[in-house]
Amino acid sequence: MPDDLPRFRYHPDPVSTGSIVGSPALCVSCREARGFIYTGPVYAADDLSEKLCPWCIADGAAAQTLAASFTDVGADVPDGVPTTVLDEIEHRTPSYLAWQQDHWMYHCADGCEFLGRAGHEELAAMPAEAAAAVAASVAEYGWDQDETDTFVKDLDADAVPTAYLFRCLHCRAYSAYCDAD
Ligand SMILES: [Zn+2]
Ligand SMILES: [Zn+2]
Repeated sequence: MPDDLPRFRYHPDPVSTGSIVGSPALCVSCREARGFIYTGPVYAADDLSEKLCPWCIADGAAAQTLAASFTDVGADVPDGVPTTVLDEIEHRTPSYLAWQQDHWMYHCADGCEFLGRAGHEELAAMPAEAAAAVAASVAEYGWDQDETDTFVKDLDADAVPTAYLFRCLHCRAYSAYCDAD
């Protein structure tokens, strides 16, 4: 990733997760070809997919001039997360492709950083806390052990079901959710 790309709540960056890609495309907000384009979901009246550069997302220009938002803050935002953080996540943070509805996650009264989509293989290569966060999110479905084991084994970064991994910017705790039918 080039050093001059804006910083976002991503680790290591939205290029690694595929939310931003190298592209010669023109940005409809600044009308320049900056070399990078955002590929994730855009909520706006016009179809703005793959038409915005990361700089116009970071400084709020795209959100303001095109009445666009990028990330669903989620239905379960914990108490204590400042509205300024939610505004940043909704209007100045790239989102990511999810099979079902994308949404952000929170910890320590702040928005987390997104680590990317993960499957069984990716989780096995990560710290045990990542798999534990996925297991905790799956536990909410109330399945028995066999169903849970099968689901976790089937997790795939590029197919349904996928785990979406986040990490706290303060205490480094992992959090995750999965798409499930
Ligand atoms: Zn732009
Ligand atoms: Zn935390």
